[in-house]
Amino acid sequence: MHFAIGEQPFYRLEDALLQSAVTCLKGIGEQRAKAFKRLGVNTVIELLYFMPRDYLDYSHLSMVDSLVCGERCALHLRVLNEPKNVFVSRRLQMLALSAEDETGQLQIVWYNQPYRKSLLRKGCEYIFCGQVDNNRINRLINPIVCSELPGILPVYPLTKGLTQGCIRAAVKCAADTYLEELNESLPGSIIEKYELMDLRQAIHTLHFPQTFSRLEASRKRLAFEDLFVYFLAVNTFKEKRKSQKGISFKIHETIEEFEKKLPFNLTKAQHRVLLELEADLKDFRPMNRLIQGDVGSGKTVLALYALKVAASSGYQAAFMAPTEILAKQHFDSIKNILGTEVCLLSGSMKKSERDAAYSYIETGRAKIIVGTHALIQPGLKFLNLGLVITDEQHRFGVRQRAQLVSKSNTVPDVLIMSATPIPRTLSMLLYGDLELSMLDELPPGRLPIKTHIISKNKRAAMYGFIYQQLLKDMQAYVVCPLIDYSERFNVKNAIEVFNELVDRFPNLSIGLLHGSMSTYDKAAIAASFRRGEIKMLVSTTVVEVGLDVPSATIMVVENAEQFGLAQLHQLRGRVGRGKVQSFCFLVCEEGSNMQNERLQIMVQTSDGFEIAERDLELRGPGEFLGTRQHGLSELSASSYANMSVLLEAKTAAAEFINYCSADEIKRFNARLKKIYNFEIAKN
Ligand code: ADP
Ligand code: MG
Repeated sequence: MHFAIGEQPFYRLEDALLQSAVTCLKGIGEQRAKAFKRLGVNTVIELLYFMPRDYLDYSHLSMVDSLVCGERCALHLRVLNEPKNVFVSRRLQMLALSAEDETGQLQIVWYNQPYRKSLLRKGCEYIFCGQVDNNRINRLINPIVCSELPGILPVYPLTKGLTQGCIRAAVKCAADTYLEELNESLPGSIIEKYELMDLRQAIHTLHFPQTFSRLEASRKRLAFEDLFVYFLAVNTFKEKRKSQKGISFKIHETIEEFEKKLPFNLTKAQHRVLLELEADLKDFRPMNRLIQGDVGSGKTVLALYALKVAASSGYQAAFMAPTEILAKQHFDSIKNILGTEVCLLSGSMKKSERDAAYSYIETGRAKIIVGTHALIQPGLKFLNLGLVITDEQHRFGVRQRAQLVSKSNTVPDVLIMSATPIPRTLSMLLYGDLELSMLDELPPGRLPIKTHIISKNKRAAMYGFIYQQLLKDMQAYVVCPLIDYSERFNVKNAIEVFNELVDRFPNLSIGLLHGSMSTYDKAAIAASFRRGEIKMLVSTTVVEVGLDVPSATIMVVENAEQFGLAQLHQLRGRVGRGKVQSFCFLVCEEGSNMQNERLQIMVQTSDGFEIAERDLELRGPGEFLGTRQHGLSELSASSYANMSVLLEAKTAAAEFINYCSADEIKRFNARLKKIYNFEIAKN
């Protein structure tokens, strides 16, 4: 999913017709419009920009005698018997029939699609497009039925109340009626120079690709545009900061004196980065620094040092964290280590508490302020904000950076700390407005997590081992790619795995956690796991950020091949926090060599930077761009970018700012304002 749900796309604000609600499309009433809304699609234009998450290649016919397990295929078959209902379980209905072509027979089954029964006749021929069972070569699962070859089919993110067929039909209707309203959004000179597909074609191809190479060109164009606008923002932001004069802080305490107050010795890397920070703080140039350090590499003390320097020079310093738990944690460290007065600001404060905190901050009595997004609320004013630190940068984008900076009536120093390692080459490109410090060393004495790749046939034995560990008072996470059944039938889902484990270990306390539960239920389950009442927590990737349970020592990832390495690294980082040996099990299909090579990287190294570098080599930069992890969720199409598109978009943006006319800039300013909250001034 590359379209940030709930965020308004920003394209072509001026095209009124394209802004029509999706209910103007045939077949979409109030109910379906509600479902579309959950996917972030309210209007026709949003539907046209709705990115398929995958494509199915049904552009040629296969024969029954040459199928491969797990493969997608289109078959022209004659139905041999009337479809029969087969009982599987209360939750699962199965419909089955046999069919053949001239090379052989196979069984076709549908799960939970009973309506198919009345649509298929014995003796008739149809084209069936679906996936061959992973274990049985003569079984086709959940195929769609067509009268002619469908070609390359888009697969969209789904939500309850919508099917692929329904989305495809709506998109078709939108494209037929409204696509010609869509005007080119990039300057002609850029389209020509970088040989980009024009916008209308690109959008059409996105949904109805004739060939994969055309699809590639369409994705390139859309990725280019997103990145182009992003780089316009980054470059402008950088230029603006460069020309400003910032604060030169007084260093009252050397790094060595600071180190004496800590309960441990600094690592070499921490020492090196502190020197870089010190130089920045002293200098009049505004600091714009990104510290990249793996989880647990000890970034917090670096922030504490900078906060201390700013506060003792008479300025206010703000420290922004993505969650209340983290903010509270930082608040405690500051009190313990710095012993200074510090103010905590969170979204869940009562109004009276918040008012008190606001006035404490506004009058300048509070020197160090720690908080969540509450720090960028419009009502909050600072007296003399001189330093801004954001932790876990991957949750904050350029927009938030700009917002925080605008809270200061001078030009504050900015320090960003990121726990998601991304390759150096890529950081330098993406965060071109920032200088980079690498904290590439962990404090001594950590037990490395033992990581194993588990093939499907060893899965049961693995759970047996885990069960024994849990009896010894340990706790385990089990992460699945999906919540429930979807058309990706061969991928484990959390509900199914939960049911399976509850059946198998009836005396074990097992919990279930996933994104579509209510906030209240999620918090209750998480708290109960933290208290140790739940021994095994089956979940989707909602545990990736936020949950911090030191007694959890086992991480199981089901269908690990479905995850990116960066994500696996984050997931693995949930364990290995205590003194006890931790384990990570990556359960996977017997996959291709490429997949195995990828997962082997997880076994070979626990160094997040190395993992990131190798992931970049294997899969290109898309994974780093497309996920929401890097605060770049504004870039919906950019997950398709490769390195050369990135570089081209960056060059194009730099050239454009230099040579474009004020009129041309105007076309982009509305978008820049909407996404990044600032505009390019040009006269
Ligand atoms: P992160 O980089 O993930 O924010 P933290 O700053 O939270 O890491 O540090 C993780 C843990 O390591 C903390 O308990 C911290 O006190 C400890 N720590 C930090 N630096 C060192 C060090 N040089 N030696 C030993 N322990 C350290
Ligand atoms: Mg941290």
